[in-house]
Amino acid sequence: MTTSSYPDTRLLIANEWRDATGGKTIPVLNPATGQAIGTVAHASIADLDHALAAAQQGFEAWRAVSAAERAATMRRAATLLRERAADIARLLTQEQGKPLAEAKMETMAGAEIIDWFAAEGMRVYGRIVPARNPAAQQLVLKEPVGPVAAFTPWNFPINQIVRKLSAALATGCSFLCKAPEETPASPAALLQCFVDAGVPPGVVGLVFGDPAEISGYLIPHPVIRKVTFTGSTPVGKQLAALAGAHMKRATMELGGHAPVIVAEDADVALAVKAAGAAKFRNAGQVCISPTRFLVHKAIKDEFTRAMVKHAEGLKLGDGLQDGITLGPLANARRLTAMAKVVEDAQARGATVAHGGQRVGEAGNFFAPTILADVPLEASVFNDEPFGPVAAIRGFDTLEEAIQEANRLPYGLAGYAFTRSIKNAQLLMNRVEVGMLWINQPATPSAELPFGGIKDSGYGSEGGPEALEAYLNTKAVSMMGM
Ligand code: NAD
Repeated sequence: MTTSSYPDTRLLIANEWRDATGGKTIPVLNPATGQAIGTVAHASIADLDHALAAAQQGFEAWRAVSAAERAATMRRAATLLRERAADIARLLTQEQGKPLAEAKMETMAGAEIIDWFAAEGMRVYGRIVPARNPAAQQLVLKEPVGPVAAFTPWNFPINQIVRKLSAALATGCSFLCKAPEETPASPAALLQCFVDAGVPPGVVGLVFGDPAEISGYLIPHPVIRKVTFTGSTPVGKQLAALAGAHMKRATMELGGHAPVIVAEDADVALAVKAAGAAKFRNAGQVCISPTRFLVHKAIKDEFTRAMVKHAEGLKLGDGLQDGITLGPLANARRLTAMAKVVEDAQARGATVAHGGQRVGEAGNFFAPTILADVPLEASVFNDEPFGPVAAIRGFDTLEEAIQEANRLPYGLAGYAFTRSIKNAQLLMNRVEVGMLWINQPATPSAELPFGGIKDSGYGSEGGPEALEAYLNTKAVSMMGM
């Protein structure tokens, strides 16, 4: 089945779905066909003002709710998300392109993240600090930072929101999200679960429109007390600067360029299975996607052949069809970007071992691509490719591989494969990333910190650190009378 119903998406303000003032909309395209499938409302400044007023009201109501009650509401939302996952996944695939099974997995994982944060919100403890004067009592209180403005991208329309939303709601903040205009319906369905679970009006809000206009209005606005963004490094730097100018707390989850170091003693089959699956998940449009494959020269040809075999085994097509394991790119910009990446690598001497070109005329399909013997100067080894392209080059010593891994300004995810504990320890200590997976695929989870260093941003979207990002710390010293 390749067709399915797809709704027009409106703005969520104070628990009501509204058209934009003035009625402006943006078309939504299905990346598998290139056809328009619906529209999304384009918010005006007046709509943003309403959404901000609602977020302030929502915050005041929600912070007064006990952590246990907040957790119960969040768990109800998670249950609704699970119950609706099959339908939501179909929306997600139609607007974003990923295979239905991946869309379902993303939605179900979203419910798990909500549940984890609901429970963790009940463990937001302050502390008692012994006072120097025994007549005084010193307390450290944790308080919600306030209304949050979140900006989320189109690659994981549910997951990118859910990590921010869950941490914000668990700590008592309200949450106003500018979700991606290209993939609006699955975020709307996610937030509907919270409305149906009984959050007070204004606790969650959803707007779409002109990203720069919305961020330029929300971030400096006095109602907003915290900014969280996932997207590209250049945009993240602009938004972080704006947040800094207005002294707003900020979390930035930006681009990456993950090295995969395959040592001479690695289990090659394991490396190909783990990194190959991770490479082509969501057509490579993943911030933690493996991108720079650094393989010891003794096993480089064997590794390359095995990666080609892996790529040959993928089934490219419309994600709604049975058996598809690789969907189209989410938008036409990525198609153009991939063609350039391959052309540039070839011009600089790399070999196209598999794929390398667009497939078909309709939709944004690009063949799973393996580039071998890629020179360091190639753009694919410097700029985040964000697509289904694996770039492989050889190394002689592990030291050389570590230096290459750390050469770029990015520092998000890294992968390593080795049978030696000595090598593993060296890599663990030396590779400059926020997340490192050794001898395994990436397994991000709610309980594990998720975030980058260097140009990949700051702050964490997993583990107790994620809650800390939505909390103010207040010291109180109280003298007995
Ligand atoms: P882009 O830089 O134009 O946009 C990235 C995201 O930021 C989009 O969701 C967009 O709506 C939003 N955005 C752009 N300008 C904004 C602004 N001024 N204020 C608020 N939000 C704004 O690029 P793109 O073509 O959409 O995506 C391509 C690149 O973005 C990729 O190469 C990748 O590096 C990065 N990206 C990263 C992630 C991630 O998970 N870290 C997700 C999506 C895209």
